[in-house]
Amino acid sequence: MTGPGRCPSCGADLGEGEATCRSCGSLLAGKREVVLEPLRQEAALAHALLQSAGFHPILAYHDESDVAHPIDPEQPFNRAAGLMVPIKTAFGVYVPEEEAEEALRVLEDARRASLDSDESTTS
Ligand SMILES: [Zn+2]
Repeated sequence: MTGPGRCPSCGADLGEGEATCRSCGSLLAGKREVVLEPLRQEAALAHALLQSAGFHPILAYHDESDVAHPIDPEQPFNRAAGLMVPIKTAFGVYVPEEEAEEALRVLEDARRASLDSDESTTS
């Protein structure tokens, strides 16, 4: 169970309305994951979309033990960083719990819009 009362980074219990984990300092505490992609650029795209729509998304990667680590979306994904990131990983985008419902709707709309435009260009 992953409710808002649990830190996604270390699993510590969070107090009501706490935005930062007290035991590990994770920014992801109190956030909900609205995107999970195997590719960094896909997650970064969703992150950029949400940011431009006025949300407060955080880009993070999951390591092998499925612990999420926030990363800087502006930072180029260079080869050195690539070596440090395990191959079997995934990238997630987190938004504050109160933005999650709306963010999911925006992402859904964007996905549908891109599907529509794909169909219109192929037919
Ligand atoms: Zn924590």
